[in-house]
Amino acid sequence: MKVTLLGTGDAPGTPKIGCTCSQCTIAQRTGRTRLRTSLLVESRGRHLLIDTSPDLRLQMLKSGSPRIDAVIWTHGHYDHFMGFGEFYRVQPMPKVFSISETLTYCGEIFGFLKFQRQAVAPYQPFPLFGMNVTLVKVSHPPTPACGVVLEYEGAKVGFTSDTNADLPPLTREHLTACDILILDALVPAQFHIAKHMNVPDATGLAKDMSARSYRLVHMSHHVPWDIPGGGTDGESFEYP
Ligand SMILES: [Zn+2]
Ligand SMILES: [Zn+2]
Ligand SMILES: [Zn+2]
Repeated sequence: MKVTLLGTGDAPGTPKIGCTCSQCTIAQRTGRTRLRTSLLVESRGRHLLIDTSPDLRLQMLKSGSPRIDAVIWTHGHYDHFMGFGEFYRVQPMPKVFSISETLTYCGEIFGFLKFQRQAVAPYQPFPLFGMNVTLVKVSHPPTPACGVVLEYEGAKVGFTSDTNADLPPLTREHLTACDILILDALVPAQFHIAKHMNVPDATGLAKDMSARSYRLVHMSHHVPWDIPGGGTDGESFEYP
């Protein structure tokens, strides 16, 4: 199982349009990016995409144009699903797995496209391309949202998606002892956003969950480049 961080940014992405802060200035000067967060998962020759970000077209081109066999939507926020239309006339529309609330909301917006939809209950594992996949509830009020746990031949990858640190106990159980935990870290320590973690929340959670390694994603332009554990667009991890 190989997991690639296709994007590590928040809803506006970095560089943010019109911004002259130091992170955005470095991004403009060097070409570094934090595209909107999504994960590409390869398993047994098939490709699962977790979230279809508005940067999907660019992310597919940069990652060698994989044919996507299935999609998971974590929640119905613009930065996590609006790129789905980019599959139109490029490849067959992939089947989408999600909790029913998210499928209904996003499915209505993409009502003009025909695609298979599979509602999945949280904490009910299902098999996909040799992996065991479990959606876990997170806390991103008021929007229903899920993280994702992937298990493959003894390896475990956890993704919180967008959440604050107040995770349900059952979710904490599922996210314990991951080989890699991929965490929402929207802002640095001096900011507190009710529906997201800041960097110390995320690194604290990685420690609490006894993660063997971790990467911060969904970082805004306020987060400095190259902080410890900060994810990089295009970075990959292979297990076992
Ligand atoms: Zn900026
Ligand atoms: Zn969100
Ligand atoms: Zn988001």
